[in-house]
Amino acid sequence: MSKGTPSRGKCQKKSHIRCRRCGSISFNFNRKVCVACGFGTTKKLRSYKWMRKSGY
Ligand SMILES: [Zn+2]
Repeated sequence: MSKGTPSRGKCQKKSHIRCRRCGSISFNFNRKVCVACGFGTTKKLRSYKWMRKSGY
C-alpha cells in the first residue's frame, strides 16, 4: 500500500454504474444502492433537509 500515482491502479474497478432511476453514475454495484437518489434503499427519492438551498 502506497499513496500517490502507483496506487491509482486499484481504482480501475468500477463500483458505481449508471442508476436506472436518476441516470447518474451513482448506483453502487456491490451494495445495489444508488447514493444519489437512494434507489435500492427507499422507494422515495433520497432527499435531506440540508440539500435544500434556502434551508435553515
Ligand atoms: Zn439513482
